Amino acid sequence: MAKVDDIKTITVVGAGTMGHGIAEVAAIAGYKVYLADIKKEILDNALEKIKWSLSKLAEKGVVRESVDSVMARITPIVNLDENGNYTEEFAKALKETDVMIEAIIERLDLKQKLFAFADEHAPEHAILATNTSSLPITEIAAATKRPEKVVGMHFFNPPPLMPLVEIIRGEKTSDETVEVTVALSKKFGKQPVVVKKDVPGFIVNRVLARFLNTGCQLVAKGKATIEEVDATVKYVLGLPMGIFELSDYSGIDVFYYVFTAMKERGFKTTPCPLYEEKYKAKEFGMKSGKGFYTYPAPGKYARPNIPKDLAGKVDPVLVLAPAVNEAAWLLRNDVATKEDIDKAVKLGLGWPKGVLEFADEYGLDKIVEALKKLKEELGLEEMEPDPLLVEKVEKGELGRKTGKGFYEYGEVEEIKKKTIIIRKEKPIAWIILNRPRKYNALSPELLKELGEALDELEDDDDVRVVILKGEGRAFSAGADVTAFTGVTPISIAKFSRRFQELTLKMQFYTKPIIVAIHGYALGGGLEIAMSGDIRIASEDAMLGQPEINLGFIPGAGGTQRLPRLVGRGKAKELIFTGDMIPASEALKIGLVDKVVPPERLDQEARALALKIAEKPPLALMAAKYAIEYGLESNIWAGLSLEAHLFGLLFSTEDVIEGVMAFLEKRKPKFKGK
Ligand code: NAD
Repeated sequence: MAKVDDIKTITVVGAGTMGHGIAEVAAIAGYKVYLADIKKEILDNALEKIKWSLSKLAEKGVVRESVDSVMARITPIVNLDENGNYTEEFAKALKETDVMIEAIIERLDLKQKLFAFADEHAPEHAILATNTSSLPITEIAAATKRPEKVVGMHFFNPPPLMPLVEIIRGEKTSDETVEVTVALSKKFGKQPVVVKKDVPGFIVNRVLARFLNTGCQLVAKGKATIEEVDATVKYVLGLPMGIFELSDYSGIDVFYYVFTAMKERGFKTTPCPLYEEKYKAKEFGMKSGKGFYTYPAPGKYARPNIPKDLAGKVDPVLVLAPAVNEAAWLLRNDVATKEDIDKAVKLGLGWPKGVLEFADEYGLDKIVEALKKLKEELGLEEMEPDPLLVEKVEKGELGRKTGKGFYEYGEVEEIKKKTIIIRKEKPIAWIILNRPRKYNALSPELLKELGEALDELEDDDDVRVVILKGEGRAFSAGADVTAFTGVTPISIAKFSRRFQELTLKMQFYTKPIIVAIHGYALGGGLEIAMSGDIRIASEDAMLGQPEINLGFIPGAGGTQRLPRLVGRGKAKELIFTGDMIPASEALKIGLVDKVVPPERLDQEARALALKIAEKPPLALMAAKYAIEYGLESNIWAGLSLEAHLFGLLFSTEDVIEGVMAFLEKRKPKFKGK
């Protein structure tokens, strides 16, 4: 067999959870399918399930043919007789088989027996594939005389819906076998990734095992609670489920088995005791009504309560780093390409980004720091940073922020002005207030340069989001009071006007502006911060309008924007007293939108900016304008503006791209046109 087009008949052995789904996928793709299992009842049940699933897919329009015509391509076969020997009928089916896909129970002896039999009866050209999750392909292949035609074909549950297939090379699998299996997976409508070495857990389960086990260890060692870890995974990293939520959903017993099997095969890990405890107590999760969370009844699912306000209580990098370390191991050992690792994680686990993409975003230096911390504080030897990560950090390949990490992002461009720094990390850019010895006091020159920088970045189509922050120990402590000596009422009124124009420029800027606040954000500093779109503060931030203490009032929009953000009473209290408030209080009253630990301020701002930067620029602008102009007008004007902008967007290419991508289930690429 050299070509995928020569494949006509597929035999799926094992009609359980996976086997019946794989048979369905093969039949939908138009192949003649033999589905074999040890008992007629099992096969009847499997056919019923396939029929039900097909009717659902037909309803959704995913399957265009009639259910009956797809079903007609599947022939059930009982493959064992009363004495436990393979039947004649099975041998006959194998003779006709171009590809066998084995999905029987996870036992090496049984699989080897089956492969030996298939080897004897299937034609010479036939490929023998196994869906095993944890057994070595090489050892299964050893039972045959055609190890070059034995390959891993690891589907995900449920096969008709999950797009990923891991194609695993045993020690002797030939290039041709891999190529044909990859092509066949595509014919099945799946997206294959190639696992070039037969390592326990392949890609997805290795990354998942690291991720789940270390997250669990954080809880077991008292560093975080279950809800804190899950809230961070869901709401900060944006994964579909938390670590414990997923374990409950898929079954703690299932993970316990797979991870134990991987450990037995040499996967270095310190198993988190909580999995074993739950396993021994038969608290498997949703299916038993109790796992890490509690469910209404066994088998009855209800989403566990994971409070959003716990998000970020654990450093997301701490949770992510073990998965990145595993991915680095896979890459360094040439088990898979970086693209395939990321694809596997996205399609197999539903991550919104690949694990290596995440790493580049958070910074490889931060990942290495987190791993060292995990190793030390949790006593986990396996958290030793992978040499590949260490090497990249030494070379300064830290990810997005240096323009290169696992991927390349184009040059990071830094333009140093007298009082500010512009840093382009496309598609985002930073404006850094750079008078650190003066707490970034706002001199007329700084305001001028800030305005010019905004203009320049507005014209740069490759910059989608701007982040504003301060260098040194503060965001900005306010206007340069030393510059206020010898001023006249008229000159200071002019200064105020200019400053206000800058804040208006920010408010109605055509791109989103995120303000990252640390240390002091006082007076004019706070007024600038309030003119941005979203404010993230570090825990050490102190905010206030202290002008009253000097005998004057805020002059750059403070008396207008502060009450709009926090209400009249709070604004008056802050302005009348001149008091500074900490970030936590600023969050409570709505003056900032998020508070994070100081060492995470940059990464949180970057992560949010990158997330927004993927959205259509014109729609972002329209949303911003509808909100900002709308809030300054009455509801009729606001609604009218909204309707017009809504309509206008339908003249853009990005709307077409957005809708197409949605229908094609891919990530849209917006151009801002
Ligand atoms: P299952 O227990 O649901 O199904 C196994 C089926 O194989 C049963 O119907 C059993 O009767 C049948 N069987 C046993 N011995 C047989 C033989 N000699 N000939 C024919 N049929 C035989 O198991 P499953 O979850 O479908 O797993 C099957 C394989 O797929 C395992 O290797 C597993 O590691 C792998 N896998 C499972 C999942 C999953 O999520 N369940 C995902 C990927 C891979």
